Amino acid sequence: MAANGDESLIIVMRAGATSEEIRHVLDRLAEAGAEAHVSEGAQRTVIGVVGDRIRIQQLPWEAFPGVERAVPVLKPFKFVSRDFQSEDSIVDVGGIPVGGGHFAVIAGPCAVESRDQLFRSAEAVRAAGATILRGDAFKPRTSPYSFQGLGEKGLELLAEAREEFGMPFVAEVVDPRDVELVTSYADLIRVGTRNMANFTLLSELGRQPKPVMLKRGFTATIEEWLNAAEYVYKEGNHEVILCERGIRTFETATRNTLDISAVPVLKGLSHLPVIVDPSHSGGKRELVAPLARVAVAAPADGVMIDVHPSPETALVDGAQAILPSEFADLMTQISAVAEAMGLSL
Ligand code: PEP
Ligand code: MN
Repeated sequence: MAANGDESLIIVMRAGATSEEIRHVLDRLAEAGAEAHVSEGAQRTVIGVVGDRIRIQQLPWEAFPGVERAVPVLKPFKFVSRDFQSEDSIVDVGGIPVGGGHFAVIAGPCAVESRDQLFRSAEAVRAAGATILRGDAFKPRTSPYSFQGLGEKGLELLAEAREEFGMPFVAEVVDPRDVELVTSYADLIRVGTRNMANFTLLSELGRQPKPVMLKRGFTATIEEWLNAAEYVYKEGNHEVILCERGIRTFETATRNTLDISAVPVLKGLSHLPVIVDPSHSGGKRELVAPLARVAVAAPADGVMIDVHPSPETALVDGAQAILPSEFADLMTQISAVAEAMGLSL
């Protein structure tokens, strides 16, 4: 993050600015010791800058050839903001585009428990139309005595399922020491609600090549969440997906309260794709379908849904898992709402 005395600036290049003009601006920024991130839009290139206030302000940016204007950014998050990039980011998850009108359906078991359980889930969600598989090898549990996941064995099974069913997969990383291990297997790396503000982990994920799904901390404001995304982005990893998963409120009828308004609010504030997890927010299987439908209509850029072939034997989160047959019915509804919203599945 910017330190005291730092300034953030967005330098908007003219439409048709040449690569030499852009290079020239970047060279001067480097001389001024500033950090620059280039965003090449369809119309124009925008350069996001964080650096020393005095050194940056001294330069008459608007006198540089090819520069249209230089605008200070007052928000605490910079590069993930709409001011920095007006077009929606589209994140590539193992060949599946997410964002910018591409709606992703991510489904699978909460945790990998066995080869049979994972493969039955993957086969079913694939047949119903999901495009990305979920399944965790490392589970951060409220109780230290609960099942903690299969570890690397779970990742191996997920990689096998990817081959078998042709679906990239998302898995959570809990510990910064496991980043290398998880990124060597998974196509999309998830940061869970309990780790949203683990800045060591976020920075580490910013320095590796796989896209990151950042779940909202269950007590985090939208601004805190975007600051967390900025930690990943500023390290150089621009492939970040936000996932609304419910927040803790006074309401006890649901596990957490799905903050659906976060979707349009984030769409205004940020260019990053936003998906919704109707399973972990409601925490009850009968809430999954209604919350998923609302998420598509918001419209979010995707949903992530817990599906288990036998929820009553699930080692984790059985109460919120839906059956493969229920998932297939839900897919029909998701497709209808997505079509109404002009999204492609
Ligand atoms: C999950 O998606 O399996 C999970 C643990 O979610 P959260 O971190 O949102 O509780
Ligand atoms: Mn879970």
